[in-house]
Amino acid sequence: MRLNELHTGDTAIIVKILGHGAFRKRMIEMGFVKGHEVKVLLHAPLKDPIKYSIMGYEISLRSAEAHMVEVLPVEIEGESELSDLSPEKKDDGREEKKVDNNEFHKCRKTINVALVGNPNCGKTSLFNIASGAREHVGNYSGVTVDAKQGKFTHRGYTFNIVDLPGTYSLASYSPEELYVRKFLKEETPDVIINVVVASNLERNLYLTTELIDMDRSMVIALNMYDELKKRGDSLDYRLLGEMIGVPVVPTVSRTGDGIAALFDTVIDVYEGRDGSVRHIHVPLGEDIEKGVNVIKDELKKDNHIGRHFSPRYLAIKLLERDREVEDEIKRLPDAKTILSTRDKELQRIETVRKDDVSSAIADEKYGFIAGALAETLVKGDADTNDSTRIIDAFVTNKLFGFPIFLLIMFAIFWATFEIGSYPMEWIESLVGWISSLVQKVMPDGALKDLIADGILGGVGGVIVFLPNILILYFCISFMEDSGYMARAAFIMDKLMHRIGLHGKSFIPLIMGFGCNVPAIMSSRSIESRSSRIITILINPFMSCSARLPIYVLLVGTFFEKHAALVFLGLYILGVLVAMATAKLLRTFWFKTDETPFVMELPPYRIPTLKASLRHMWGKGEQYLKKMGGVILVASIIVWALDYFPRHDENTVAGDTVTSVENDSKINPETDSYLEMAGKFVNPVMEPLGFHWRASVAALAGVPAKEVVVSTLGVLYTGDEEVEDSTLSARITAPNPNTGIPDFTAAAALSFMIFILLYCPCTATVIAIVKETGNWTYGLFSVLYNTAVAWLIGFIAYRIMLLL
Ligand code: GDP
Ligand code: MG
Repeated sequence: MRLNELHTGDTAIIVKILGHGAFRKRMIEMGFVKGHEVKVLLHAPLKDPIKYSIMGYEISLRSAEAHMVEVLPVEIEGESELSDLSPEKKDDGREEKKVDNNEFHKCRKTINVALVGNPNCGKTSLFNIASGAREHVGNYSGVTVDAKQGKFTHRGYTFNIVDLPGTYSLASYSPEELYVRKFLKEETPDVIINVVVASNLERNLYLTTELIDMDRSMVIALNMYDELKKRGDSLDYRLLGEMIGVPVVPTVSRTGDGIAALFDTVIDVYEGRDGSVRHIHVPLGEDIEKGVNVIKDELKKDNHIGRHFSPRYLAIKLLERDREVEDEIKRLPDAKTILSTRDKELQRIETVRKDDVSSAIADEKYGFIAGALAETLVKGDADTNDSTRIIDAFVTNKLFGFPIFLLIMFAIFWATFEIGSYPMEWIESLVGWISSLVQKVMPDGALKDLIADGILGGVGGVIVFLPNILILYFCISFMEDSGYMARAAFIMDKLMHRIGLHGKSFIPLIMGFGCNVPAIMSSRSIESRSSRIITILINPFMSCSARLPIYVLLVGTFFEKHAALVFLGLYILGVLVAMATAKLLRTFWFKTDETPFVMELPPYRIPTLKASLRHMWGKGEQYLKKMGGVILVASIIVWALDYFPRHDENTVAGDTVTSVENDSKINPETDSYLEMAGKFVNPVMEPLGFHWRASVAALAGVPAKEVVVSTLGVLYTGDEEVEDSTLSARITAPNPNTGIPDFTAAAALSFMIFILLYCPCTATVIAIVKETGNWTYGLFSVLYNTAVAWLIGFIAYRIMLLL
């Protein structure tokens, strides 16, 4: 609870003071010390300031200041509130006051920490290892688009830890930067952990200088310390910490080394026990400092200012013409004087420095960093980045880059199909064994049919693809963790520019091979709005793993000889359609694009097997959950629609349909609901070579594409007297009504293409609407994708018939 939320007459114990260093110090000097008692003397809802009594003194605080004090209310037993008003009574009455000591202890011993650092510095790895969570760790910028929260205990303290998006600075330029600033302001974490990359301190410490300006409690995690050592560099991090007034703790968040020491230091800083904590000013040169001081003095005249961040930080941001801080200042009564002072100072500095003030400030800060490192960092001569440079010479080469990329993708699909086929057979035979057991043991009836055909046929038909999906996820996470994904984006940059996008859009696209939903969410890191929307809209064309079972089934059945090739071809087709769509959107809908940006190439790292397996399993778990949820429900619904209405056995037997035409005619006497629905839409799908059961499966796949295969599993059971009961055998068996199999190679291909491209699943449509903030984009993607799917499926079918 915050102090300003108490009512008149309430008493509370002070737990902690939030806000920046100077503010906290001032509050402590006024008597707001943790563990002390504070009483509200006067608190009218609209009256500001509020009068408090603390240590026998009367003090008035503004409500906004009181908001920065965390307190624990005390309950008073048996005493009327009036009698407690006199100060003498207060001391006597102490025994009767019931403050839950445990509660106080718990509040005191809860530390809120936030991870702040550049993209790709290892924040998420640190978050995971500290909190035991399993967030997605990737070796490229922009994986973390949201703040993630975790909780753990360490040495009797409870830590609430937040993983913030990566930022290079705290300018109000990108959404991430604004997000981090807003978080630091509104959530006021007790201690900031600034994660920096040990082997790239020059750039990483820039953000640190901005955090120093803010004057908040902070610890630096000198992450990837293993790489610094491997390079043969040595850093006197203790001296560095003392020089900048922030304790520095070396960590390796990939293995967990130094993490315990890091949180020990966080506790020390929180408790005010760490000797190296000190607020320093990053010197900005005489001219700029003079300007900062003039503005700071002007700001300090207003008591409202400077609770969250120091006035110095605000003054510097004003000189940098920071829009957000400017807007905030404009709300103050003295805004005019402050801003005109600022403008005067800007002009003065710019004439002296002959440069704009922002770059002058950046120069000074980099100078400060260089100076600090000159004293503490000794570069070794072993340069391990050499290997990175050698690999990059090939991988990002104009000539080899692209073939290498395709080769790697091919290898991934080969592994997905070939290696995955062994465990797949085991699971298949297990499912077969269970269903034959059910057939034997259970008495005939609807329940048996539900279990054997509905559940085992549906869910069992999909679960066999778990190994394939796990292998695909393993490969994707390996590419991300190793740093190859960033190279892939890099070599794609030029190609992406041709369709009006950036290399940065490539990463969400590749992620789409796993699942379109997180991929669409990760597009948030793209600064330009038009590029972001295009990236989102083309993402569903990236063939997600839910579509994989359909390919595995049909490719394995009809194109076994060229399996990997057909696989790769389908994925490439998706990519090509995505590109064409992007080009169309760029030409007709979003005409201009802006914001250039830097693409980083992090050094290669060999990912730990543990991390890749963890990531893979995280996805596998989701898959299994989906299995028990939406797929199970959908399978049962599809089964029920197929099972009902029940028809008289005799009518069914007596009705012998023999021609192809009659097979797809709706016959209320014999048809189930599902058959009727499928037959109803089938005329539209017939030009693509679809049998009505294929239409039913496509229809059933709208909630989730996994349901396509489980629907085929449900539709092709029972009515075939085939000994070999794998789904693949069942769909190739001749249809007793027509005498020919429903699926031919040509129909299978057009079916796969249709499923690849048509209307995205419900979750994806929801993600599109949510991320674009506009439902018309969701509608567009349903209609456009289905139309494109039909057209290309049609063309493919006709070509296959000619061959
Ligand atoms: P974030 O963008 O800051 O969240 O960074 P991530 O946690 O996603 O990590 C980026 C990459 O750095 C991943 O490939 C990690 O495996 C790797 N990484 C993280 N910490 C360390 C470390 O201490 N040492 C080394 N060598 N690699 C690390
Ligand atoms: Mg991250």
